[in-house]
Amino acid sequence: MIPSAFDYVAPNSLAEAINFLSAHPDDAKLVAGGHSLIPLMKLRLASPRYLVDLARIPGLKYIREANGTLEIGALTTHYEIESSSLIKERLPALSETAALIGDVQVRNRGTIGGSLAHADPAADYPALILALDSEIVATGPKGQRTIKVSDFFVDLLTTSLKSDEVVTQLRIPIPAAGTGVAYEKFPHPASRYAIVGVAAAVRLNANGTCAQVAIGVTGAGPKATRVAAAESALVGSRLDDTVLRQAATSAAESIEVTGDIHASEEYRRHLVSEFTVRALRRAIERAGR
Ligand SMILES: Cc1cc2nc3c(=O)[nH]c(=O)nc-3n(C[C@H](O)[C@H](O)[C@H](O)COP(=O)(O)OP(=O)(O)OC[C@H]3O[C@@H](n4cnc5c(N)ncnc54)[C@H](O)[C@@H]3O)c2cc1C
Repeated sequence: MIPSAFDYVAPNSLAEAINFLSAHPDDAKLVAGGHSLIPLMKLRLASPRYLVDLARIPGLKYIREANGTLEIGALTTHYEIESSSLIKERLPALSETAALIGDVQVRNRGTIGGSLAHADPAADYPALILALDSEIVATGPKGQRTIKVSDFFVDLLTTSLKSDEVVTQLRIPIPAAGTGVAYEKFPHPASRYAIVGVAAAVRLNANGTCAQVAIGVTGAGPKATRVAAAESALVGSRLDDTVLRQAATSAAESIEVTGDIHASEEYRRHLVSEFTVRALRRAIERAGR
């Protein structure tokens, strides 16, 4: 449980951090809250030569609204997201999702940027931000680029970030009026990571049928995913329990699911189905027609 020796670097600006990453593409690792990286280093599953601490870089910790979008700086902690009055007002499902992460120590240290960049298959945010068509801003030597969340998560612990890029911002479009959003998870009893977590965003027509729906699933397979098959089955339908159950079954059958020591593949498929129904039901209630 003792990491390999490393040098600690604490840049005072984003440019300094990016320059350092560019100069050491194979042996430098950023650290933010340290709640995913340090455990890996202690197990020697990661042994970076340099640890580049983002903590002293100004301008990466904020929550604001701009042009109908919530913009969240990469160093914003889970607790700050959970307790933000702006998020509670504009997108309560996001503060509820943050509140379900780990325990209070984890939420006080862990950051949104670290969670996204780490791409843990059992992390909570990915299901919700996929369902809300969010974007991630990455900053590198050539400036900023915006990556759709659906293109960001590539595989287990793998993203489309380049080795000299820093996640600087998450952008979440604030759902249109009349959209209900909910996240439901079955947590691991010790860590609280999602064995399976499902987010749903639902907008209803005036006659009560489904106008628009998005479903994101985390925890089930190597990366979080949208379930297009279930979404298209719901649009245009009246969302009674039979319809929800059918869509949830097709969600569970259509995505890649892995079994591990925490849950077999069969059990996880069952959880995807059950938690899809629960997330949809709560989103429909919130859609309020
Ligand atoms: C006991 C425990 C329980 C947990 N339970 C949950 C849970 O229920 N749900 C959940 O979602 N998560 C859970 N987590 C993970 C937690 O949310 C972490 O805080 C988060 O995954 C990583 O954030 P961090 O800031 O600690 O990142 P770090 O550990 O500092 O970094 C993680 C990775 O991201 C990279 N990185 C960090 N910041 C950036 C950036 N801005 N740009 C590019 N790369 C960056 C690092 O180089 C590293 O590879 C748990 C962790 C612990 C220890």
